[in-house]
Amino acid sequence: MSIYNVILVAVDLSSEAHQLADKARELAAANNATLHLVHVIEPLSFAYGGDVPMDLSSIQDQLNEHAHNKLEHFSQQLQHPVTGQHVVSGHTETEIHRLADNLKADLIIVGSHGRHGLALLLGSTANGILHGAHCDVLAVRVYDTDENKDDA
Ligand code: AMP
Repeated sequence: MSIYNVILVAVDLSSEAHQLADKARELAAANNATLHLVHVIEPLSFAYGGDVPMDLSSIQDQLNEHAHNKLEHFSQQLQHPVTGQHVVSGHTETEIHRLADNLKADLIIVGSHGRHGLALLLGSTANGILHGAHCDVLAVRVYDTDENKDDA
């Protein structure tokens, strides 16, 4: 019996992202579910309150292309058919919720550092995704690695 039909994996493309892969693959295979990947790029203008006196579009394009390439790399390493690779721009939690709704996902998989303390918990992306999601959310414990963030 399939519990989940559509699984969405939130991938931050850090060196820790591969730690989600095994659980995502196993759950997708066990449920015969379709698997989607999402990476959200927060627009550069967000960091400056939207008021930037220069054209950031070419840098943003390069970031998008880089993210597409890295998500493709992640997808290949997953060793399971991936139905959709989504690179979207906006606020991370909002865009993941929006995409999950659009895809009618019944499970979102996120990484969680499991750091201690209420402040850290409230500040975490995993917590933000959990709150406001219209489906189950699986927080997979990830461990810090010493690798550079770009080496995922
Ligand atoms: P963090 O709270 O930043 O350590 O992130 C925890 C988890 O949230 C990551 O393992 C991903 O599953 C997800 N996440 C964080 N940032 C992004 C992003 N930009 N795009 C997609 N998922 C993300």
